[in-house]
Amino acid sequence: MIKTFAIGIDMGNTTTSIGIVDTQGNIISKSSVKTDYQHIAEYIDAIYNHLSVLIEQQGGIDYIKGIGISSSDGNYFTGCVEFAPEHTWSGNTPIAQILADKLQLPVTLTNGANAAAMGEMEYGIAQGMKDFILLSLDNEVCRGAVANGEIIYGHKIFSGKSGHINVHNDRGRICKCGRKDCLEAYCSTDGIITTTLELLISSKETSTLRNIPQNELTFENIYEASIQGDSLAKEVFRFTGDILGQLLSDLIAYSSPKAFILSGKVAKSNEFFMQAIQKSFEENLLQIYIGKTKILTSDIENSDAIILGTSLLAWNSKLVEA
Ligand SMILES: [Zn+2]
Repeated sequence: MIKTFAIGIDMGNTTTSIGIVDTQGNIISKSSVKTDYQHIAEYIDAIYNHLSVLIEQQGGIDYIKGIGISSSDGNYFTGCVEFAPEHTWSGNTPIAQILADKLQLPVTLTNGANAAAMGEMEYGIAQGMKDFILLSLDNEVCRGAVANGEIIYGHKIFSGKSGHINVHNDRGRICKCGRKDCLEAYCSTDGIITTTLELLISSKETSTLRNIPQNELTFENIYEASIQGDSLAKEVFRFTGDILGQLLSDLIAYSSPKAFILSGKVAKSNEFFMQAIQKSFEENLLQIYIGKTKILTSDIENSDAIILGTSLLAWNSKLVEA
């Protein structure tokens, strides 16, 4: 039987997106389940139930090559989700083996940002690039780095935790990891909400955001206000872009990438943000790097890039067999 489809799964903190992908990189059907079950067995059952329907729609399991799945705490080499703070079931969970046994299909696991980088390299804005760094800016901040056309996994796999690089902003803002002033504490959706709340207190600027109860403020509220020209909301994105641009000007020395690719909800927010990133980046660059690296925004939805990237693993990798 010719294997004509692969499955890509993006395990987010609260929602898991599942896609069936053909050999040309088209996501031909999608579904989603919640991630935050109390027990791993409930989560696996939910994936199984949704995936079974999608598989039958494509003619059955005989047409499926395998499954790639991503988690921000996924270990490509062991197939385990390791101590993910977001999941009550995590511990050190051999999820690739559990899924392979349940679905009777080979499975491989990777890190979400690495999967997104693979998706961008094969199907997205990084086509033709061999050296680039992808930063996924969402409720988490993660990095997928490619050098000489290969994903950099690093020793013991976890090389993508760039959300927890210190940005040397001396506010002392506490990150979810417990440390102070991590990139994620400023450039994630939650980080942007925190910046907004701080600014609402410290500034006298009029803002439509003052009409929203503080505990109900969302990233989308801030984004919409910035698009409507709200000065305080625009200042939030300028401040955030300034921090991110400075960080990119440091990261460039790490592997001299052809481009930084920004993906995720925050990256696609607005032009003020991109202008602030570019300005700060250029102001802080070492002279030898000037004009050599672009900052680009992904034009694929982050979850789709991850589904495409994980499906590539199903086509190309050594998979955990049932
Ligand atoms: Zn942190």
